[in-house]
Amino acid sequence: MENLTRNFICILCPNSCEITASFNNDGILRNIDGFSCQKGAEYVQQEIYNPRRNIATSVKVTGGELPLVSVRLTKAIPKEKIFEVMTEIKKVTLQAPVSLGDVIISNVLGLGADVIATKDVPRI
Ligand code: SF4
Repeated sequence: MENLTRNFICILCPNSCEITASFNNDGILRNIDGFSCQKGAEYVQQEIYNPRRNIATSVKVTGGELPLVSVRLTKAIPKEKIFEVMTEIKKVTLQAPVSLGDVIISNVLGLGADVIATKDVPRI
């Protein structure tokens, strides 16, 4: 029986454990090795079955001391939705002032995450 593997680096803490997931040739997960705590095993299972990512980007601002404000999501979303969410974020232009923590898009695409500002942009 063929034994396929995928390698991961756990990003949940500075230990950066190198974790290997082994699969049967029918794609069924057989084993996970290399984690130092249970969180690492859970992280790899999520990466295999439901990978999620946050987004850090910027949004245009008019009338402010800066032309852009940095934004991020309040929680990670399914990886395959990132392109669609980026498209929504690119549609937005804000009017200064913008304050850290302002909700730029609430519940973006119904994914349960808000897009929020991560800095202040005062009015000129
Ligand atoms: S497996 Fe545990 S100890 Fe290793 S990097 Fe992940 S969270 Fe840290």
